[in-house]
Amino acid sequence: MSSVHEPAPVAAGAPPLAGTVPLLRELIRNACVNDGRPESGQEHRSVATLREHFAGSDFEYEVIEPAPGRTSLVGRIRGTDPSAPSLALVGHLDVVPVDESGWRHDPFGAEIVDGEVWGRGAVDMLNLTAAMAVVTRALAAGPGRLRGDLVFAAVADEEAGGRFGAGWISAHRPDLIRADYALTENGGVVLGGGEQPGITLTVGEKGGAARQLEVTGRPGHGSTPYGAQNAAVLAARVVQAIADDPGEAVVLDHWRAVVAALDLPPSLRARLTDPATLNAALPELGELAGYAHALTHATIAPTTLHSGAKRNVIPGTAGVGLDVRLLPGQRGADVDAHLRRVLEPWSDAVEIVAESDRAASVSPADTPLADAIAAAVRGTYPGARLVPVMMPGGTDGRHLRELGSVVYGFGLFSRDLGLAEFRRRFHGNDERIDLTSVELTTTALYDTVVGLLGEQEQAR
Ligand SMILES: [Zn+2]
Repeated sequence: MSSVHEPAPVAAGAPPLAGTVPLLRELIRNACVNDGRPESGQEHRSVATLREHFAGSDFEYEVIEPAPGRTSLVGRIRGTDPSAPSLALVGHLDVVPVDESGWRHDPFGAEIVDGEVWGRGAVDMLNLTAAMAVVTRALAAGPGRLRGDLVFAAVADEEAGGRFGAGWISAHRPDLIRADYALTENGGVVLGGGEQPGITLTVGEKGGAARQLEVTGRPGHGSTPYGAQNAAVLAARVVQAIADDPGEAVVLDHWRAVVAALDLPPSLRARLTDPATLNAALPELGELAGYAHALTHATIAPTTLHSGAKRNVIPGTAGVGLDVRLLPGQRGADVDAHLRRVLEPWSDAVEIVAESDRAASVSPADTPLADAIAAAVRGTYPGARLVPVMMPGGTDGRHLRELGSVVYGFGLFSRDLGLAEFRRRFHGNDERIDLTSVELTTTALYDTVVGLLGEQEQAR
């Protein structure tokens, strides 16, 4: 069965797709800063902005508020064919805090300077949330445009794990957000020059296995440090040992695909894809070395240190918090074995306490959604192919995968924004996005949605 309705033609950069930049600027100015406290974020301000955006359209939505001010907006455009696939566009509304002293422009001013929109959230991920809202409005204009359901969700609290946003909705109102496929952050960075560039498609994210180290020494008088079993000193040695050990390299297909797409000498490519030589080759990647390490290892970052209560008392205990991220196939027990090996010299003084163990979350890279994205991307980069990548950090994608969705990170950027610079802007100073990338992302998203859900002849 097919629709008899003809879609209105939609051109790149023309109404109705031209609204992304103004919407992005409003979302930046709303400054929904999430510092992890339940009372931060206050995403209700950006939900109000979106209600205005959808005013006068046929888009029907619900507003969810699991805690005061922690508001999300979720709606669904019903498709004409119940057997067609469904797709959810899931963008977050919150942003991380800024250190204003490191910025060249107001982080919440949303100024346009030299063709770039500046501000916290410009790449993470208000750009994409705005594009999703604009595409949704364009497609809500009338019945019968899409065969499958399109869900749009603008959610709170991604930057603190989604407990008031995608996590809450998945647990309590899964009917609202469930779809065969979902798009969220982030992807669409151009790798390599030439006529056949790689375009990143995020297909998964690492797992987590938080650990706490409890270090035991012996308390004493601060005036007599020589020979003391100072738990703070032991903790310092333990932290140094963890940081000095890069861990065992694991080469997965996702990493091979990235290496193949980067402009690298063949000899370096070979060493970066051999676990025996990978660690030694990492420094040759320059500013991408940390990214490369994260995609080829279980990472262990000491992040919190606690010891001592009084200046003149040598502490008898210390605590070290470890942020641990797992590759597909790894579990917390693998990390514990590594830690026991590295901390062997202090085995009597250090206890490893497991706090979580969450496996990596990965979707298959070979799906009709990937095909639709590849076709949309080729509208801008004709010879391009998708490079399926893992994200070192976490997103709302894992909540959606738990509901059974195939989830990818979306986006499409101009060639001016390289992978290293793109990554630097996430949670970094001087976050900004060029206007071309905003337009490319909006157009590619529209084409992807219509490609997956729409009639063939509805292609833009
Ligand atoms: Zn984000």
